[in-house]
Amino acid sequence: MSEGLVIHQLSVGPLQVNCFLVACQKTREAMVVDPGEDADRILSLAGIEGLTINVVVNTHGHFDHIGANQQVVTATGATLMLHASDLSLLQNARHHAQVYGLTVTQSPDPDRLIDQGDTFMVGEHEFKVLHVPGHSPGSICLLSDGHLFVGDVLFAGSIGRTDLPGGNFDLLVSGVRKRLFCLPDDTIVHPGHGPDTTIGQERRHNPFVGDGVNR
Ligand SMILES: [Zn+2]
Ligand SMILES: [Zn+2]
Repeated sequence: MSEGLVIHQLSVGPLQVNCFLVACQKTREAMVVDPGEDADRILSLAGIEGLTINVVVNTHGHFDHIGANQQVVTATGATLMLHASDLSLLQNARHHAQVYGLTVTQSPDPDRLIDQGDTFMVGEHEFKVLHVPGHSPGSICLLSDGHLFVGDVLFAGSIGRTDLPGGNFDLLVSGVRKRLFCLPDDTIVHPGHGPDTTIGQERRHNPFVGDGVNR
């Protein structure tokens, strides 16, 4: 099912964000999902693998997911994509990082704003954008070939926190159920923190949003 799509995972930055380098095996074109930090590691891995990064996507605008945007985009000329509803988070990321005593490099503004139902190509692979707000207003998930990149929307056995500015618990739960739990059970979920899981596992067993929870 995932033939031809190569996924490398790197844990980056002090908050251990999962950054994904996702490549079309055939054309060697690649996307970086959430370059939170450690641009040098991301770029050198792409170099070792012989990949051309032409897309950078932030699943949302929280500072821990965007810190290497500037370096990666400058080095590669990649198209930077984000949902419009997280633009102010992206633009104010340095301020948000300071609250945690951390610093991040200011990101450039996105080249393309993406929303529910939009698609884009990474080599020969089409990615579809799913808008699932609630962790942040502009949180998006990316779906291709049975792989789903979810940022901080959904984790193995948990969901994203909703107590940050713009968070909304009810929106997050309804969005996960409406837009993600309709996907096939064997869809592989790649969260922004922690281990991979599957849609079937979370639909059945997730204690916040799974079938057993009445909300
Ligand atoms: Zn977040
Ligand atoms: Zn995060």
